[in-house]
Amino acid sequence: MKSETISYLPEADKGPWGIYLEQVERVTPYLGKLSYWVDTLKRPKRILIVDVPIHLDDGTVVHFEGYRVHHNTSRGPAKGGVRYHQDVTLSEVMALSAWMTIKNAAVGLPYGGGKGGIRVDPRRLSPSELERITRRYTSEIGILIGPKKDIPAPDVGTGPREMAWMMDTYSMNVGATTPGVVTGKPIAIGGSLGRADATGNGVFFASRSAAEKIGLDIEGSRVVVQGFGNVGNAAARAFYDHGAKIVAISDVTGAVINEAGIDPYDLADYVSKSETRGVLGYPKAEPLPAAELFQVPCEFLIPAALERQITEQNAWKVETKIVAEGANGPTTPAADDILAERGVIVVPDVIANAGGVTVSYFEWVQDFNSYFWTEEEINKNLERVMREAFEAVWQVSQDRKVSLRTAAYIVAASRVLEARAMRGLYP
Ligand code: NAD
Repeated sequence: MKSETISYLPEADKGPWGIYLEQVERVTPYLGKLSYWVDTLKRPKRILIVDVPIHLDDGTVVHFEGYRVHHNTSRGPAKGGVRYHQDVTLSEVMALSAWMTIKNAAVGLPYGGGKGGIRVDPRRLSPSELERITRRYTSEIGILIGPKKDIPAPDVGTGPREMAWMMDTYSMNVGATTPGVVTGKPIAIGGSLGRADATGNGVFFASRSAAEKIGLDIEGSRVVVQGFGNVGNAAARAFYDHGAKIVAISDVTGAVINEAGIDPYDLADYVSKSETRGVLGYPKAEPLPAAELFQVPCEFLIPAALERQITEQNAWKVETKIVAEGANGPTTPAADDILAERGVIVVPDVIANAGGVTVSYFEWVQDFNSYFWTEEEINKNLERVMREAFEAVWQVSQDRKVSLRTAAYIVAASRVLEARAMRGLYP
């Protein structure tokens, strides 16, 4: 029997979705009989495009475009964040939702993959405008989300505040307080201890596991971080707390470098008070052209901003031993090949940044039980899940002689397609 799919995207689309499809192509030869079902991974299950009109503070009505994509729900409800960024496209949200399918399966969480976003620059909206856009968007995607159907969480441009508004809007619409509809909420309304730093801490755990394999010490190592938001900031702090030296950091405002080391706590304090709300102008480091960030010699390079940052153009210049992908999709397949050729270990996003969704899972379980764990329990379990996931993927990469990314995709795709095969086709 043969399984076929009809392509509905132009071949030329090398956007994030194109990259994801290429990653699926790379894993297909390793899937054995399950490859019969592989086209399941090449199509999102459902896509919702919504119009999000709001009143600006000056009374003008503005329409934004929003998305919610369910890539796959074979292993459980859709799960994935909501992005507010001026460059959000359907291709990007589709890829991000697919990476969530792979990530949740790679780590063994009982979820499928989903993602959402609004094409908006949140920095240009006031808090009350942001509240209106969040509430209207939540209502518009209300037909898809729910604690047993699809559970959003923060991503670029969103955080606990937006999750509180989403939880409240959904709760108002269904007439019952429903904490489990989103994760990454403030603690006071059913959030989990340890969630805020979970992704960054997970990046650190995954990096440390990889370092152990090659006999590399964290203490005294040099770390370069791209992006100083939720993920980059927490990852930098975790490395710093374990004795590593943060030599360079960038964000959307620019990059800074100090070979003697940057204190990320002090930098965060500076960012919170600076006019640009960015690292630009930090007085205890030198400015660095952002394009040169990846050339700074280091042991750990942490892209923690956006996708497609390490490409075939700059992968040759990367001077590191381990790339740990805090961001989703920061390395293109061509760059993956170059890094592999140069002996750089890439800990792929679907493992490296899975700490966030892992603690989101803990939050969701706690919300269902209305029983909350200590931070110590959360962190201990996060560390265990991350270590087990990394070890399983490392083993496959050794056994099959493939990259950690392909190994993670082998583990994850096999789990998703096994569930698919067992459930069979409806009707
Ligand atoms: P965020 O909005 O908190 O921070 C993003 C950071 O990237 C900011 O510091 C911003 O200034 C910086 N940035 C944006 N464009 C840049 C550029 N061109 N060059 C350098 N820096 C740039 O977002 P976040 O939640 O930290 O997410 C970052 C990445 O991590 C995204 O790829 C996201 O999908 C991924 N991720 C986030 C989570 C989470 O729990 N928040 C979980 C898994 C993966």
